[in-house]
Order: sequence, then structure tokens, then C-alpha cells
Amino acid sequence: MTDKKIALISDFDGTITKEDFFNMAVDKLLSPEALKPWHDYVSGKITHIDALTGIFSQIRLSQDELDKFIDTIHIDKHFYDVMDFCAKHKIPVYICSAGTKYYIEKKIGGEIKKYGIKLVSNDAVYSPEKGLRLISPDKNDPFYDENTGISKEALVEKLNKEGYFTVYAGDGRPDLLPSKKAKTVFAKSILLDMCRKENIKTEKFENFKDILNYLRRFYDAG
Ligand SMILES: [Mg+2]
Repeated sequence: MTDKKIALISDFDGTITKEDFFNMAVDKLLSPEALKPWHDYVSGKITHIDALTGIFSQIRLSQDELDKFIDTIHIDKHFYDVMDFCAKHKIPVYICSAGTKYYIEKKIGGEIKKYGIKLVSNDAVYSPEKGLRLISPDKNDPFYDENTGISKEALVEKLNKEGYFTVYAGDGRPDLLPSKKAKTVFAKSILLDMCRKENIKTEKFENFKDILNYLRRFYDAG
């Protein structure tokens, strides 16, 4: 049994899921040109939240079709093993996403409730005429960020201040700043490359089984 007070903070798209929702939307519902707002974000022309709204607002499905599409999001099956473990050991879990609560709650709202996961993300509204549009938190919100809507870094900092040993999992650009603050980082994809460039130590991260094995070392040893 560890004397560490662990908190787990995870990104959603590409980390808990197999693929970013915006890539799914471009691949299956839109066309490659629909990705232009993302290229504009990567080259620094627009914010992350404007890029996502720029892509998602092109979706023209009925509500029922959109719900069915959201249901096809693929969740890492080991994620639930980690949630069981965290519930058993009273480890607080945060899903912190620069995407939106809209599809996260539709996909895993039941599990979020069941496990008491705290969800920190942007809101959104959908209409078949205007697509899906993200709404950032109020500027006075402690986790507000102008670029992504949500400051993942502020959440990790807050938990650090509260004495938590912060374990962060992510895969993309908005995960770099929180990775600099977290005590342990599980990184894959672009985040892994960025961490290597910045000499941030990372743990092996293919799926949530790696996080489960890591956490077990604190709780099951001896
Ligand atoms: Mg991601």
C-alpha cells in the first residue's frame, strides 16, 4: 500500500479512444478538405477550439444519425479495468478534454456516473443545420484557456497543490503543458514525440493496461 495520494488525469480523444473524433468525422462523414481548420490550427492561424468547431460545424446528420455515429467511437477496453482499480483504491479520476463533453457523455456518460469520474471539457450544441459547435467555459472559470477552451495544465497544477501525485495520460498537442507539470506521464503519438524533444520522462503507453500495471505496483506490492 502506497503513502502516495494518486490522482489520474486522462485526455479522451486518441487516449481513451482509438481515434480523435474530429478525424472520425472527417474520414466517415466529411471530406479531406474539411480538415482545413485543423491545418490552420497547427500552423498557428486559429485556436484549437475554433479549429474543432470549424470541422464539427460541417456535420449535417440528423440527431439520431449523429448519436449512432458517436456510438461507434472505440474505447480502449482496458480503460474500464483501470476505472475498477481506481474505484477500489479511491483514486480520483479526471477526464480532461479539449474536445467536448457532448460526445464524451453520449458515449460513456453511464460509466462516468458509475465510477464518479470528473469530466472537465467544453460544452457544445448540435443542430443538423449548423452542426456541432463547441462552447468554452466562462473566462472566469479556473480551467479556462483561450486556445483550447480547457486548461489541462491548470487542472494538473491544482491537483499538485492539493498534494496529489498526478499521473497524466495523453496523446496530442494540448497534452504537452500538463505533461510538464504531472509527476508521471503516459504519452503516445504526437505527445510522445513532443515529450522526447523536451526531455520529459514518459512511461510506456500502448493502452490502459500499461497504466493498470503501473498503478498496481503502488498498491499490490508486498
Ligand atoms: Mg487526444
